[in-house]
Amino acid sequence: MLFNKPLYLSAPPRFIITSNTPAFSVKARHFFTWKGDSEDKMASKNQKQLPKEYNSITAFHKKLAESKRILAVCGAGLSAASGLATFRGAGGHWREHKATDLATPGAFRRDPGLVWLFYAYRRHMALSVKPNAGHHALAALAKKNPDFLCLTQNVDNLHQRSLHPPPQLKPLHGSLFTLTCSSPSCTWSSPNNYASPLCPALAPAASSSSLSQLLDPSHPLDPIDPKSLPHCPDCHSLQRPGVVWFGEPLEEGMLDEIDRWIDAGPVDIVLVIGTSSVVYPAAGYAEACRTKGHTSVVTVNLDADQNRQTLNSLQEEDFAFAGDAAELLPELLKPVIGELPKELLEGTEDQAESKAEEKTQ
Ligand SMILES: [Zn+2]
Repeated sequence: MLFNKPLYLSAPPRFIITSNTPAFSVKARHFFTWKGDSEDKMASKNQKQLPKEYNSITAFHKKLAESKRILAVCGAGLSAASGLATFRGAGGHWREHKATDLATPGAFRRDPGLVWLFYAYRRHMALSVKPNAGHHALAALAKKNPDFLCLTQNVDNLHQRSLHPPPQLKPLHGSLFTLTCSSPSCTWSSPNNYASPLCPALAPAASSSSLSQLLDPSHPLDPIDPKSLPHCPDCHSLQRPGVVWFGEPLEEGMLDEIDRWIDAGPVDIVLVIGTSSVVYPAAGYAEACRTKGHTSVVTVNLDADQNRQTLNSLQEEDFAFAGDAAELLPELLKPVIGELPKELLEGTEDQAESKAEEKTQ
């Protein structure tokens, strides 16, 4: 169960958090805390010599051909390539609220209707976009390579909708489309629930025509009676979004599975996609993999060639590719996954939708 138990470490930390993330303690591995994406401001003035082929696709293809076990850690930039705003920026606001203030258990206790409206809006927005070619390339890699594991910080289900094989996908922060029970003693949950609106009270957040009013802070919101929100069929407590809120622990069982996977053998490649390889959690996973063997850390991010901290962290066999993950991933992974079908390359296809349609025909 995701949300209710604090975690205590009984063993020494298996993660080495780099000196670039000084604010992180071992606890940071288990508790969801906000850290800004770019810490470039702290970048060292001493520029390091870059590895010769750090941005060579040909050199990466050579490494890929020799690689077996591959880990990916995905962040907001991958969703942004689908056109989805993620509220992860430190200044992210929704109406007059800081998004980070709404994503807490305390906010839900105080005003479940307001928090549910925020999440109903995010469900609506996630449903209004499609998985991009980057998601499809990762799903294709998972199908080709059983030794590929994909961790994602994104809660928008775009990986799931690209039909990424579920055992090879670990949604670290849960999902907007999993409903769970707000009672700590109840284990009810409902995954892959795409209903929108979830209930009539949340309809204003689920229709494009009412959004401008909803998003205008000068337009007062009618308070939502908690009775009109969805309730748990087992214990009748309020349902809540199945995402990990600030201050809540990540799912212990999932973290253990990831640790076991990393411990099972050398990891040849760590792909860090749409986030920085020098901030948590990617930095922690990259370092953990490096201790197991000969690991290439491969950053795929819009600013990979500008972020001095990323560039300074590059080791001899690392790579950094600057650009849109939706364009770069199909190209980088092509020797393994082949050419993606045109409709997937253009991000116009939603495989989950077409699968569902096939079934109903
Ligand atoms: Zn319940």
